[in-house]
Amino acid sequence: MSEAAGSIRAGIVVTGTEVLTGRIADRNGPWLSERLAELGVDVAHILVVGDRPGDLEAALRFMAAEGMDLIVTSGGLGPTADDLTAEVVARFAGRELVLDEEMEGKIAAILRGFARRFSFDEEAMRTANRKQAMVPEGAIALDPVGTAPGLVVPAGDRVVAVLPGPPRELRPMWSAALGTAPLRALLDRATPLHRCTLRMFGIPESEIAKSLREIEAEGVPLPEVEITTCLRRGEIEIDVSYRDEAAATAAAVRSGLAERHERHLFSLDGETIDSQVAALLAGRRLGLAESCSGGLLAARLTDVPGASAYLAGGVVAYSNGAKADLLGVDPGLIEAHGAVSPEVAAAMAVGALERFGADVAVSITGIAGPEGGSEEKPVGYVCFEARLADGTRIARQPVIPGGREDVRERSALVGMHLLRILLSGAEAPL
Ligand code: ATP
Ligand code: MG
Repeated sequence: MSEAAGSIRAGIVVTGTEVLTGRIADRNGPWLSERLAELGVDVAHILVVGDRPGDLEAALRFMAAEGMDLIVTSGGLGPTADDLTAEVVARFAGRELVLDEEMEGKIAAILRGFARRFSFDEEAMRTANRKQAMVPEGAIALDPVGTAPGLVVPAGDRVVAVLPGPPRELRPMWSAALGTAPLRALLDRATPLHRCTLRMFGIPESEIAKSLREIEAEGVPLPEVEITTCLRRGEIEIDVSYRDEAAATAAAVRSGLAERHERHLFSLDGETIDSQVAALLAGRRLGLAESCSGGLLAARLTDVPGASAYLAGGVVAYSNGAKADLLGVDPGLIEAHGAVSPEVAAAMAVGALERFGADVAVSITGIAGPEGGSEEKPVGYVCFEARLADGTRIARQPVIPGGREDVRERSALVGMHLLRILLSGAEAPL
């Protein structure tokens, strides 16, 4: 998307040696980036730096040099010696640190509660935390959710929002920061950005690129919108972001893609396969028979709150004995066709319907690898069946690419899509 004149550019600086080293995954940068995008702010950079003041200062200078109107920092607001963000931001903004007595009182009250509950030395805590009440002169202090106050610091013609590291503290404090005058004034200048998400399954990304070229050749001005295509957990997610004036272009992109990929498109409004399947299962009773996916389909289905309304249960029948004993699969069928075969998948689905008294079942049996493949049945060969009690069924035997983890995870995903296709009567793309 071309940079609209007057659009607000923002940079995020995530501090913390534990994030830099990869010991913990950054949950603040991506979250803030999404929130900012929703507000129509153009996020240009996310930098991760360790707990070293020089590195944090360099990151702030970089953001300033690159013309960021808003800089948001996460982390380093605690009471310990490695928590230096307030001090560094004050220096960056050219403001003295001064004691905010009201904030000191608030922190003291929070700490009194802690000290009483855990019988810590209250005085030692107060001394260690007094530094948390040091606020750059002229900055707005945000009430702590934990013990550290956040800050909104005007710095020349930009604004720095300083937030604590723990995500459960950062998120509510971001909302508080949005209510402050400097941020409100800045964000008033941003034009809201709309976003729509299309999801497809069973199609390579290159096909989308080809379609977009065709759509552009038909005269749709693609540069007016931002289109990001990403392969996410085995599905293709296409995001179209646009400002009000490009709404018609966004609609043309959407309908152009929908027309070309009707069979593979399962969501035009961003709804996930998980919530679609949950809705389709309402009023039904589902039983599962899993082998190579080891319960991952059951885990995925139970990720959705309220799954108990339709999921009766699942059997992880890994051994031949379990397939026979728990699902009633005829051992002769396994002998004749092998445990990984469409015949055994069908028998597993029938068994799950019967054993769970279900009206819909899914079975999965495959070769997850790295060993156990053959020429006829390579690693990644997985047999699926989705079946209704009335005998309506869909069976598939794809060879899923990738390593063991990919094969297992993708198996659960294919199971989800087969359920959707069976229950919605859609045409199968697999
Ligand atoms: P505290 O008072 O807890 O020290 P703080 O503002 O100083 O808060 P940090 O010391 O940087 O924050 O981080 C504290 C903890 O918060 C980290 O150990 C980590 O568990 C979590 N955390 C910090 N930053 C992130 C992040 N970017 N993503 C996910 N978790 C984070
Ligand atoms: Mg800390």
